[in-house]
Amino acid sequence: MNKLAYKRPEGAPVTRFAPSPTGFMHVGNLRTAIYEYLVAKSGGGTFVLRIEDTDQERIVEGSVEVIYKTLKTAGLVHDEGPDVGGEYGPYVQSERLDMYRPYAEQLVREGKAYRCFCTKERLAEVSESIVGGGYDRHCRDLPEEEIQRLLDAGTPYVIRQKMPTEGSTTFSDLVYGDITVENSELADQILIKSDGYPTYNFANVVDDHTMGVTHVIRGSEYLASTPKYNLLYDAFGWEIPKYIHLPLVMGKNEDGSVSKLSKRHGSTGFEDLIAAGYLPEAIINYIALLGWAPRDNREIFSLSELAENFDTDGISKSPSVFDYDKLSWMNGEYLRAMSPEEFTAVAAPFYDEVFGEQGPDRALLTSILQQRVTVLSQIPSMIGFLAELPDYDTDLFVNKKSKTTLENSPVMLRAVIEAMEQLGSWDHDAIHDCLISLAERLEVKNGTVMWPARIAASGTAVTPGGAIEIFELLGREETLRRLKTGLAKLEG
Ligand code: GLU
Repeated sequence: MNKLAYKRPEGAPVTRFAPSPTGFMHVGNLRTAIYEYLVAKSGGGTFVLRIEDTDQERIVEGSVEVIYKTLKTAGLVHDEGPDVGGEYGPYVQSERLDMYRPYAEQLVREGKAYRCFCTKERLAEVSESIVGGGYDRHCRDLPEEEIQRLLDAGTPYVIRQKMPTEGSTTFSDLVYGDITVENSELADQILIKSDGYPTYNFANVVDDHTMGVTHVIRGSEYLASTPKYNLLYDAFGWEIPKYIHLPLVMGKNEDGSVSKLSKRHGSTGFEDLIAAGYLPEAIINYIALLGWAPRDNREIFSLSELAENFDTDGISKSPSVFDYDKLSWMNGEYLRAMSPEEFTAVAAPFYDEVFGEQGPDRALLTSILQQRVTVLSQIPSMIGFLAELPDYDTDLFVNKKSKTTLENSPVMLRAVIEAMEQLGSWDHDAIHDCLISLAERLEVKNGTVMWPARIAASGTAVTPGGAIEIFELLGREETLRRLKTGLAKLEG
């Protein structure tokens, strides 16, 4: 870890992604990370990763690794963070614990905060008698001697901020505009808990200030706490960062209504979406557009193109709906833009799922699939028939457009079998030429030969690729076996 390797560009934005390691990476968290990255990078600035683990009870083992892995796969490279270091560390809250208390003590000395010795029992009683719950400020003006006596007796205490009792606090959010709250509605918030740990509200302000964060981007559930944060910035005389609160990400319900995106709408975690066959680039592109729109109607953006085009004016305050169909469409665009070799590489786990290590030529599979697949997980069901001939009904041989019936299909199949048995080399052109000249000889449409041939070879009504490609993929022996099976079915 080379702590001095990275130097912040002066005067440029500094943003931070501050996840709590409490589970997997949800679409909403990922969008926050993307916008933080984009605000930093579109202004040539610094993107910091900070792990907020002061709520030890909520920590889920392994989630820090998921955070690193997600940022890496998504290409959201952080300039500073626990794993890469930086001048403003440590970047894990639990390693910063010594830093918070002195700031709280400073406010106590300046008369802007106080020690509160109230017991849990007393607090439970008073909070019931106060509208909306809260604290009755019992310890706000304790005499000095009383405080000293309680401290000498080792009485546990918390440190609370003295909130103004009159006036109002207004702050400006880049997305939501000006928001005002009456100070009388704000309880004297706890800064340091009786176990010595800072509250989240206190720690995030101290961290954002001491880490030089210029833009705070977070979910709109934090809007209500922001006035409290600002009163802390004011108490210290620190500059208030710019705020960008993001609306919820919603999911579409079956009845057409929308509600907060959750598992029942589909995959909501980054890793789940990858496992479901979406490409990281497509996921990032799609999520970036969930609540942000460019000035034109362009939709396909790489991460660096997003950084070039991003500006906070394009963020909307109306909740956006996660549309899986749209994501699939976008994913298909990315798949088709790949080289065949790239496609084969990303499709490999899905090819393996069907054939194991073996199976037909993969370049050949790619040639029939790349234009048709939108989500990679569709692959197994699209090509499962190649691994095993499904049981099928002879009705499949009947097709109006190809002029095939239960009567002429066996005739066609017999001719195809005979021709294929005599075919010299087994490749696309040879199979093609052979089937076409067969149709000519029999004086029927090409389709009249191709349709029964494809049905017998696949046992499937809709296949990627036609008879020629399927024959080629199956090889001579398996093709003939299947053609004969089909013929026997028709004759039986
Ligand atoms: N640790 C908080 C969370 O994961 C971060 C909130 C913030 O960005 O300040 O929700």
